[in-house]
Amino acid sequence: VSYSKCEQASQFYKEKWRLKMARLEVITGPMFSGKSEELVRRLRRAAFANQSIFLCNPASDVRRTRNIFNLVSNDNKLSSYQHLSRYNITDVENLKEAFDEHKPHILAIDEAQFLFLNYEVFDFLVDLLEREKNSDFLIIVSGLCLDADGRSFGVLPELMSKADEICLLNAVCVRCGNPAIFTQKKPGGSQKQVEVGDENLYEARCRKCFVKQSLLPHQ
Ligand code: ADP
Ligand code: ZN
Repeated sequence: VSYSKCEQASQFYKEKWRLKMARLEVITGPMFSGKSEELVRRLRRAAFANQSIFLCNPASDVRRTRNIFNLVSNDNKLSSYQHLSRYNITDVENLKEAFDEHKPHILAIDEAQFLFLNYEVFDFLVDLLEREKNSDFLIIVSGLCLDADGRSFGVLPELMSKADEICLLNAVCVRCGNPAIFTQKKPGGSQKQVEVGDENLYEARCRKCFVKQSLLPHQ
């Protein structure tokens, strides 16, 4: 039997393409770019597909508003969804334990920059993808990839290098309205790379309006 190119392609589609495969999706961009909203959208879609979801937030994220658990609680579908577990992670050990207990279809981690460049977490996620590569297992990681000095931040840039899909979102520059890729710390904040805050401390800025935190006046 000789196949035309087109038939070969459709044969390939039937036999190979829809074989199950694990995926890593990364959602990134500055603060206020809608990363958490995008994560909620993806989780809501997964809930309609009846997939079990394990949703994590680093315990060090103490913001009460715009926190992923609040967004999920206010979502019509997700708030009453049975197969969604929420978990505050403190370190890789408790992430592993909780994950092994639930064995979910989807592992989602929001604000992953608070995990720092933790290679234990990084290796855990990459090993998990390898272990589960023949199943429809999905990891979605959301967070900042740049700090307020405009430099690579935490585990996100590393994970982006291993991702099947990167969703890079922009906010709106508060100065000029251009698409914003940077998170600017407002004057008076500390020099620390990690300072948990919201509109009180940060704003979105474009490439032209962004001023590095290290160049700002400090009190
Ligand atoms: P992220 O998780 O990326 O910090 P959120 O999903 O928490 O973003 O918030 C995104 C929402 O923030 C937007 O839908 C919008 O309502 C609001 N917002 C506030 N300031 C800005 C801005 N400068 N640019 C875009 N959206 C903004
Ligand atoms: Zn600007």
